[in-house]
Amino acid sequence: MNSNNIRNFSIIAHIDHGKSTLADRFLEFTHTVPKDQMKEQLLDKMDIERERGITIKLAPVQMLYTKDGIEYTLNLIDTPGHVDFSYEVSRSLAAVEGTILLVDATQGVEAQTLAHLYQAIEHNLTIIPVLNKIDLPSSDPNRVEKEVRGILGISESEEILRVSAKTGEGVEAILNEIIQKVPAPKNSILSPTSPAGGSTRALIFDSYYDSYQGVIAYVRIVDGELKKGDSVKLIASGKNFQILDLGFLKPVFSSQKILNNGQIGYIVTGLKDISVCRVGDTIGLANEEVEALAGYKESQPMVFAGFYSSSGEDYVELRESLGKLKLNDAALTFEPDNSPALGFGFRLGFLGMLHMEIVKERLEREYGLDLIVTSPSVSYELVSKNHGTKVINSAMQVDDLADTFEIKEPWAKLEIISPTQYIGTIMEFVQSKRAIYKKTDYLDTRVLLYYEMPMSEIILHFYDGLKSVSSGYASMNYEFLEYRAENLKRLDLVISGDRIDALAEIVHQNNLTRRARELTAKLKELIPRQMFDVKIQAGTGITKQGQGHILASESISAARKDVTAKLYGGDVTRKNKLLDKQKKGKKKMKKLGRVDIPSDVFINLLKN
Ligand code: GDP
Ligand code: MG
Repeated sequence: MNSNNIRNFSIIAHIDHGKSTLADRFLEFTHTVPKDQMKEQLLDKMDIERERGITIKLAPVQMLYTKDGIEYTLNLIDTPGHVDFSYEVSRSLAAVEGTILLVDATQGVEAQTLAHLYQAIEHNLTIIPVLNKIDLPSSDPNRVEKEVRGILGISESEEILRVSAKTGEGVEAILNEIIQKVPAPKNSILSPTSPAGGSTRALIFDSYYDSYQGVIAYVRIVDGELKKGDSVKLIASGKNFQILDLGFLKPVFSSQKILNNGQIGYIVTGLKDISVCRVGDTIGLANEEVEALAGYKESQPMVFAGFYSSSGEDYVELRESLGKLKLNDAALTFEPDNSPALGFGFRLGFLGMLHMEIVKERLEREYGLDLIVTSPSVSYELVSKNHGTKVINSAMQVDDLADTFEIKEPWAKLEIISPTQYIGTIMEFVQSKRAIYKKTDYLDTRVLLYYEMPMSEIILHFYDGLKSVSSGYASMNYEFLEYRAENLKRLDLVISGDRIDALAEIVHQNNLTRRARELTAKLKELIPRQMFDVKIQAGTGITKQGQGHILASESISAARKDVTAKLYGGDVTRKNKLLDKQKKGKKKMKKLGRVDIPSDVFINLLKN
């Protein structure tokens, strides 16, 4: 195949703007998938994606399309839409020459889309803006078009495509634009000045673990060609392997002998560990001198939480399940952890909250585990006189260095896009989260607000709050900025005299009292009555024995006697039934110190 006839492109779109639906229309129109095999959102592979109706990622697909007697190969690969996976976005964009900017004409450009768009511009991609959902009466393509023109600097003389991914109207025109405007891959291997110096290189833009075939890498051949049976090496991880199979994605595997320059396809590596075959790594021939392609970066977990089995007995199962999940999720980290209250478990690291939810759901669903997940936390840097800097990811570890004089927390750059009428309420809300205002840009009838904000504030509650102060219209994007020293304290929780480390949090000095009151009040709601009075306290500098500076306190009075006492008389079956019922209720309980609490208390503490 002549690489002049290849077009590699992706779709950048906000959740629900119609990316999966448009991909379906492409598959139909190019006859890539026979009509009787089409099901909706064909390229959304994971069950979780289908059920939630969100796309974590579309599978890459190769389509053949003949225009004016010439057959073109169109390779569509995807950019994950969620901020948790933004590093993968940059690798996807590095694998293509063009991208469709798909915007819902009933909405407009959203914050994450804008962030991805800027990345695409940095990668010098050809951008094809497309307004979707024009079949809906509520769509306002004129307004949204003005906005898109403003952002991209497109003049009135240039047309912007309007389509309906649902009805198929305008879809053919998109394919024609791609052929006309997106450049064919460069044949850099033939160029004597090639920076590759003539060596073969492929970029891994996605990889996953298959239990039968080992790690499968999705690649873009950047220079040269790869063949079945080639001995190759991974530049970043230093691992060698032989290519067991390779080919195109149609979207099912279509085995080939060779992947040429400019092509996109899959490679069966036979490797057993995904962490040696990660997104962003370069594949080269084992016997060639190969320079790595730009941009390889290890992913950094941003959010941490303790995962424990509810019963406390499934530790081994939990460990094995995590090991299996990790085979397929290089970004997931975990280390053993134990808490006096929760027993043996693991502290997991995630790219963000969505990543955490996905992992939790998979452990529960695919591995049948019953989990207790502690409140998520970011990581902090403890700076001490004699021990230098230590990174911690749980409030429990604050004590570790007694000579700590500074705690640093991660800060992020935050962008919010909203219709102008919500600016006031949004600003008020954001500023209550310790945010620092930077500037405002105007996008036609909407605004783009820039802030800096502590990562911990963004991760917990923030998105829901932003949606509610903007009647659902605002969207946001954030990106790690730096660690900053702040006046942070550990807030301890004491229940009936026992300090419960699993409930500790790191809180800014100014918010200590408010947070102490909030937590004690919430725990009072969540903890059922016990046979004795329960005291709930929150404060700072609390010793294990519960002594220290108390900031807030609540109490729960003792329950009345034995629940069966009122069933005087002889109905034994009724009495047993009741005791049974009580036992079942107990199963979902966990002892924190001397007190039984529901095992979902951590999740409920997170809820507003
Ligand atoms: P994604 O999250 O970007 O992949 O969006 P989906 O393709 O899953 O679409 C989100 C919702 O919008 C689905 O209910 C689609 O049926 C609907 N949708 C997508 N495109 C159109 C369109 O052009 N017109 C209408 N009316 N609905 C659409
Ligand atoms: Mg989708």
